[in-house]
Amino acid sequence: MLGAIEAGGTKFICGVGSGPADLHAIRIPTTTPQETVAAAVGFLRERGVRAVGIGSFGPVDLAAGRIASTPKDGWRGFRLRDAVRDALSVPVAFDTDVNAAALGEARWGAARGVSDFLYITVGTGIGGGAMVNGALLHGLAHPEMGHMTVPHDRARDPFDGVCPYHGDCLEGLASGPAMAARWGRPAEEFDAAHQAWALEAHYLGLGLANLIYALSPKLIVMGGGVGMQVVERVGAEVTRTLGGYLGTPRIVAPELGSRAGVLGALALAETATIAE
Ligand code: ZN
Repeated sequence: MLGAIEAGGTKFICGVGSGPADLHAIRIPTTTPQETVAAAVGFLRERGVRAVGIGSFGPVDLAAGRIASTPKDGWRGFRLRDAVRDALSVPVAFDTDVNAAALGEARWGAARGVSDFLYITVGTGIGGGAMVNGALLHGLAHPEMGHMTVPHDRARDPFDGVCPYHGDCLEGLASGPAMAARWGRPAEEFDAAHQAWALEAHYLGLGLANLIYALSPKLIVMGGGVGMQVVERVGAEVTRTLGGYLGTPRIVAPELGSRAGVLGALALAETATIAE
């Protein structure tokens, strides 16, 4: 039995099983690190897991297995990987939530057999994981695709953006909280004809075009509560932005849906057992 933790800023999704067919998962609200980890570890210990994969909200220090900078109380600098490993005495693999989701889609979802693709999530934040030559991209730290700079036409959109670090980066302009702040109500309340979606697709199209130029993905899997609603519109915006210079790769919703992250963490757990 393998264990998985998708560690999110508002909730932890903990799962056990061997894949999508037998995943048993629970949700735990993210409170203090001690309380949240105790609940997650309790669930995994009862089920006798032999390895755990963690896909964590970030940014993270992958080498140290800890959360880096976060405004969330108590989590800054918290060594999440060691806390789980020490409590369970099993191997633990640790990566970002979006890299985990990419791995899940590669193992069981829309990206099976694709060596070079991106997993992008657009929801409470914007993040991206990349598979390059069949391996997850890490680099200096890990990709932070949501914080790229995109053109911001203040005549069309005078909104300043909500990123606490950059203001009007992509996440600052196009995350769920950005939409809510710009339009005065949550994104899930807009009907399909609302002008918010055209602007949203515009920004995501700019962002994805930059990623296509930089990383040449064969496929883009776009998840998250907001992302899954604009998959089709974004494709048209990407094509328009690329201007015929490059072809648009396929852009699809995750086959694993909202389970991509926790299943990806399960796939990470497989790598932990191999590393052992
Ligand atoms: Zn930012």
